[in-house]
Amino acid sequence: MRQFVQKDSSMIKNGTDIIFSAQCLREGGLVAFPTETVYGLGADALNPLAVARIFEVKQRPTFDPLIVHISEISQLEMLFENPISPIVYRMADAFWPGPLTIVHRKSGIVPDLVTSGLNTVAVRMPSHPVALELIRLAKTPIAAPSANRFGQLSPTKPEHVLKQLTGIDYLLSGNEKMGGIESTVISIDGDQCFLLRPGAISLSDIRKIVHCISRGQNQKEKDMPSPGLLKSHYSPNKPLFILEKHTETLPDNSGLILHSKSDLSGHATKTIYTSETADHIEIAANLFTALHLMEDDEAVFQIFIEPVEETGLGVAIMDRIKKAAFRYL
Ligand code: AMP
Ligand code: MG
Repeated sequence: MRQFVQKDSSMIKNGTDIIFSAQCLREGGLVAFPTETVYGLGADALNPLAVARIFEVKQRPTFDPLIVHISEISQLEMLFENPISPIVYRMADAFWPGPLTIVHRKSGIVPDLVTSGLNTVAVRMPSHPVALELIRLAKTPIAAPSANRFGQLSPTKPEHVLKQLTGIDYLLSGNEKMGGIESTVISIDGDQCFLLRPGAISLSDIRKIVHCISRGQNQKEKDMPSPGLLKSHYSPNKPLFILEKHTETLPDNSGLILHSKSDLSGHATKTIYTSETADHIEIAANLFTALHLMEDDEAVFQIFIEPVEETGLGVAIMDRIKKAAFRYL
């Protein structure tokens, strides 16, 4: 695993070395790279620790689901759950490579942090030649949001990335002009297609290929195929309580999620550690998976989770914990 050493962006390595960039990604590093929309901040989508660093570097106060970037249509077989809707392939043939993102039920290989706990994943194949070559050489799908700090402008030039980010391993520059408009996001569920976010590809172009329902049309929000299209949201289907004191006695059949070694573990039916040392990157990488495991365990009737310190990445971690526990706060 790479370690960040730069204290400020003037120390970020940058240039046009795609081979080095791909190597960084394979080793769990972060690389900013050009796409036809804006600069992305990429990490190996199958490595939850690398993905956790994206949120840390962006200083995002919450975990939003990320788009996974691929270089070949055949990579869908590893990311999407079978059976893959035939509509997915029709849309991919028509619009990829290009600024169309397809959301579909995910396979087990996709880390829960990438999808913020949702059971769907968003995937696209960018058309920027540098992005495509980078993903091809990295030999792994790349999770990438825009390469800006939370709340700041999306970057369309390498200077914009340098102005905003520290803690990345390489800034890969590209010459081609960028559109600056984000990808269109659609969700495909069986034979149905929903527009989740308007973007660089118009709804009328999409409708030349499949019937696609735009938000609000024939649909109530609660019937939407996944909550990610509103405000991505995940909360387990069992009561979730934030642990107040380490001396708390737990009711029978409690699941306990801890972030560092503690005496409490003996009091729970099932204990999961997201980290043994309260390391925020590890906690972020394992949080949603821990919640899913508790949800799936029939011996667990309610879940208790330890809070984390709200500094740095801890802000995003606590935001998600509070959202997941919102009914029981
Ligand atoms: P960006 O921040 O521009 O990379 O945008 C990502 C967009 O994709 C956001 O609007 C997300 O809500 C959406 N998105 C990503 N994953 C999912 C998902 N699994 N379900 C629904 N929307 C998603
Ligand atoms: Mg963005």
